[in-house]
Amino acid sequence: MTSTVPPVAELLAPSHWRTVDCISDLHLQASEPATFEAWQRFMAETPADAIFILGDLFEVWVGDDAVDAEPAGFDAACVQVMRDAALRRPVFFMHGNRDFLVGHSCLDACGVGLLDDPTVLQFAGQRWLLSHGDALCLDDVDYLKFRAVVRSPQWQREFLAKPLAERQQIARSIRSQSEDRKRSGAVYADVDTAAARAWLQAAQAPVLVHGHTHRPAEHDLGDSLQRWVLSDWDLAATPPRGEVLRLSASGMQRLAVDGSGYL
Ligand code: MN
Repeated sequence: MTSTVPPVAELLAPSHWRTVDCISDLHLQASEPATFEAWQRFMAETPADAIFILGDLFEVWVGDDAVDAEPAGFDAACVQVMRDAALRRPVFFMHGNRDFLVGHSCLDACGVGLLDDPTVLQFAGQRWLLSHGDALCLDDVDYLKFRAVVRSPQWQREFLAKPLAERQQIARSIRSQSEDRKRSGAVYADVDTAAARAWLQAAQAPVLVHGHTHRPAEHDLGDSLQRWVLSDWDLAATPPRGEVLRLSASGMQRLAVDGSGYL
């Protein structure tokens, strides 16, 4: 499958920013309290000047109205963490394949900015291309077809018009299909190198930072182009996983997040 380069949004960082933290793929869910707690501490305690959440913060999101429907629920607790963090420093959010229905009403209420995928961040004298990464996994053909459908405004209008309970049921069934696929040993595609290079060249950026694949690594794509992959978070795993990629004028640094929240 070939791809065309989508429009690249631009974000100009204020000149006083010294460090920017990128995270993704926390897959927050009520059944994983250790990951939620580590994220909560990170959001409260990071010394970074801004936080960029690059998709799949939530395992599932079926509509912003779920927060109001269950004010003491897990989604509402997550929203509170974002709201508190955004009072202290700018927080930006990009959709992933799990939480693409996080909407303006939720983000506006939190004071969190929505980032287009991809966005080039002009910061610390460099252009950093930020993406969730799913649109670059060209060999996931069935998923990309699904993505094209569910990202259309019409599908989203129709889905969000359904009763909350029905949406939750649909999300559970999609999730169990994907769990079945994982258990069957299906191989997930990785980011396509030619597509990543095309995106970087279109964005005039030397570095792509993305998540989604859960394969943290630094890839040299040739011609001084690089691809840095974020880690997913699972603080209940052995050993626990949780990582922040901190951008600054001196480059990129991976920082482990552990149960004590120390960076
Ligand atoms: Mn993803």
